[in-house]
Amino acid sequence: MNPVDPNANPYAAPQTAPAYVPAHGYGHAPSPAFYTYREGDAVVHPRRAWLPAVCMKCARVDGLVTRDHKFQYTPPWTYGLFFALGPVAVLIVMALLRNNARMPIPLCAPCDARWRKTTIVLWSTVGLMVALPLLAIFAAAVSEVAGQVLLALSGVALVALLVVSLVVVRPAQLRAKKIDHAHVWILGVHQDVLERLPSQFVG
Ligand SMILES: [Zn+2]
Repeated sequence: MNPVDPNANPYAAPQTAPAYVPAHGYGHAPSPAFYTYREGDAVVHPRRAWLPAVCMKCARVDGLVTRDHKFQYTPPWTYGLFFALGPVAVLIVMALLRNNARMPIPLCAPCDARWRKTTIVLWSTVGLMVALPLLAIFAAAVSEVAGQVLLALSGVALVALLVVSLVVVRPAQLRAKKIDHAHVWILGVHQDVLERLPSQFVG
């Protein structure tokens, strides 16, 4: 993270257009492509701009670090294809329709540490969900009861994954509500940050 001027207003629109996107040219109204604004509970942020220099999770302005994060968004209707197409075809469709946006996220050190911990918890749960059914298959060859117990535990792991995603990961991280070619709609930003952003683009 670059050194932050404590007197600077991190929410202010850039005073000069970034040199790398002179899209609107001189003497014309600036384009919304430069500005971060609020839309309902989402922060609408241009892919190529910087977020305000404030912790996105707790609104602190000091001791910031940046976390390089890849937002991913898959249209929710693709989940509905599961029953029509089966898991393999759905995974292919999802991969084709998934939008990614990688960007630096300003966070304070404790929020960054919390984000990292919850990612570890999430992947541990995913690991259990993958490993338990495989173990159940091997165990069933030795003992039917052991196989059934492990299969039941796989179901528990699936529920645990849902709970971890909603209760552990979601409060500690940010997620994308939508991604297009120019913007990312970011959910999970602290209310104070959200409220200080303009509610829509003002040219
Ligand atoms: Zn924080």
